[in-house]
Amino acid sequence: MTIKEYVAKRKEELTAEVAKLDHKPTLLIIQANDNPASDAYIRGKIKDASEIGANAILRRFPIDISEEELIQEIQKANVDDGIDGIIVQLPLPNHISEANIKLAVNPKKDVDGFHPLTKFAPCTPKGIIDYLSAEGFSFQGANAVVLGRSEIVGKPMAKLLLKKNCNVTMLHSKTSMEDRKFYIAHADLIVVAIGKMGYLNEEFSYKESAVIVDVGINRGEDGKLHGDAVPNLPVSLQTPVPGGVGLLTRLALICNLLETGK
Ligand code: NAP
Repeated sequence: MTIKEYVAKRKEELTAEVAKLDHKPTLLIIQANDNPASDAYIRGKIKDASEIGANAILRRFPIDISEEELIQEIQKANVDDGIDGIIVQLPLPNHISEANIKLAVNPKKDVDGFHPLTKFAPCTPKGIIDYLSAEGFSFQGANAVVLGRSEIVGKPMAKLLLKKNCNVTMLHSKTSMEDRKFYIAHADLIVVAIGKMGYLNEEFSYKESAVIVDVGINRGEDGKLHGDAVPNLPVSLQTPVPGGVGLLTRLALICNLLETGK
């Protein structure tokens, strides 16, 4: 099943689930930036919520809002029974600490999965695991390589893969080329999240049965979006960009929103 088909099917299931609920879940999106990419992501999140019959509210604040004021706004939402899930759209203005904001969100409403005490998994890694599970990927004992060790993708991805009993290796900017080639050649699953257009290419060798999950989103000189891997590598499954992990991330957010009531 393509990712588009999978997402459409899951959305139908989520719509049926929401239709049975007396209380329709409500997502609050807090925005304190004037970033056009954030505007586009927010439009997508609002559209996804409304498609499955959930509510989404956007509260925009000026970019010179103080950290204290922003935390107060989050605290109001934390105790508001009309709000089930809260996300604070990144990036934040430079004078606001991302770490402090992530800690301010009520872990029970933290559908982005950033608070250390939340039960929710961060959306990109969760979306990937859910999709691979639906595709019947056999996690147990598989050699999984995660390229990139960011807080929002690489690290939580590795943690979820370990939980699924994969043998996990994390590669990063300080990994030697010799080691990269070795681990990639032996990998059953490669998740690449480094933000380097076309980094995975024919210079590396791959198992024919390998799966490549391409998280990267890079704007090429052609003005189009490209992944961290070149298309059509000689593997059994490679997720496309666009139309790949971005859709899975969006889906995971609405799945988390529905879980708030459980
Ligand atoms: P990030 O915070 O920029 O971190 C990049 C990571 O990649 C770092 O750990 C860095 O290593 C590593 N790295 C950079 N260049 C490398 C290289 N040449 N070889 C090996 N490792 C390298 O990244 P991020 O926020 O995780 O985002 C990564 C990419 O995924 C971006 O293109 C972003 O736009 C995309 N993204 C997509 C989604 C989605 O939903 N599709 C969601 C989130 C992010 P060091 O730690 O050693 O510096």
